[in-house]
Amino acid sequence: MKKWQAGSFLLVPIMFLSILTSAAQASTPECRFAGQVVLISGKKSVCAPVSGNIAWINVSKKPTKNLSKYEKTKLKAYRAIQNAISKEAPKNIELKYDISANFPEELKARYIEQSEYATRLYDQFFNQPTIVNVYLHTEKDEKYIRSHPLMGKDASDFDVWFADWRAGRLTQHNIGLIARFGEQTGKAEGHTGVLVPSSSKISTLQLYADQVVAHEYFHVIQDLFKYKRDQQGYELGPNGFDLYYPPIFREGSANTVATAVSMRNFEDYLLFYRSFILQNISSKPFNTLTSTSAIIKVLNEIEYGKSFPEAHWTAYPVGSLVFEWLIAEYGFDTYKKIVYNQELNKPFEENLKLSTGLTMDQLYAKSAQHVLGGFQDALKLNTLKPVQRR
Ligand SMILES: [Zn+2]
Repeated sequence: MKKWQAGSFLLVPIMFLSILTSAAQASTPECRFAGQVVLISGKKSVCAPVSGNIAWINVSKKPTKNLSKYEKTKLKAYRAIQNAISKEAPKNIELKYDISANFPEELKARYIEQSEYATRLYDQFFNQPTIVNVYLHTEKDEKYIRSHPLMGKDASDFDVWFADWRAGRLTQHNIGLIARFGEQTGKAEGHTGVLVPSSSKISTLQLYADQVVAHEYFHVIQDLFKYKRDQQGYELGPNGFDLYYPPIFREGSANTVATAVSMRNFEDYLLFYRSFILQNISSKPFNTLTSTSAIIKVLNEIEYGKSFPEAHWTAYPVGSLVFEWLIAEYGFDTYKKIVYNQELNKPFEENLKLSTGLTMDQLYAKSAQHVLGGFQDALKLNTLKPVQRR
């Protein structure tokens, strides 16, 4: 059993973060997996690894003037993206669903709602009527997925997940099923979708899962502006596609946008990032990110995604903070320019310079403090050490 020293709460600069363990309150549910979401006294709480233990974290609403610099930048980015969500029906995108009968009903309703809500943001990237297919399937649909002309292409990637889910492992994860813009027959269409374990419910999935629908769907938007180039083909150098679409842009910024569109209030948005970073913070290279110079070093190392085995994954949390900073400081329209300018077929560094005036080095140097802020925000929780153990 773990207990937290009551006095530890005073170490928190503001009464913004609170930590409870299952032992601390009889009514508190048991943390079963990192990222688990429950309501505790009506408040959204997430199970997170803290100081080698596991605890419930939550975020209370507070006045803007009391937000830290890191949080104020987050609020600017969050509002910039939220303000770009249209209140009107989409003009261009028509969603077409391909949903398995095995897909859990509760999640089906949620993911349809999330797809429709994301459409209100993503529709502005299109200038003509376009179909976006949304595929929602489970491990029970393996045969159908394998025989599908598009989903079947990378179907073997799912083998390990299906094996885990059937064995009852890693069932807190949903995963991307497909994310592309291209032709199946005749006209190019968007194709996006996710897989969930057929036994899952909203309560059995981690908080991270709540942005995966919008994340995969955002790749369709990114792909729309590289579609012509995809058709021409590439002469790829040693850095492959990453020269044009580096992981911090491809994955990191897909997370920035998807998280902002999926978290419906700012407190949930802060909670998402805090929980996401806490889930990663004790592993390499995240545990080295204790200074701006360390962050700039890692950003350079992951630029083309191949420096070390974790480099690709590193781009998700680190890249999402880099582009959150960019959107806060330069606006969502400037970020959109980068997406549009993929059409120019230039290496990403040139696109970035044209779209924002920044070089890669400037982007890294200027955003590093904000990225560090994200890790320090999570580390604050790690300073709350449990003092009594039995
Ligand atoms: Zn992705």
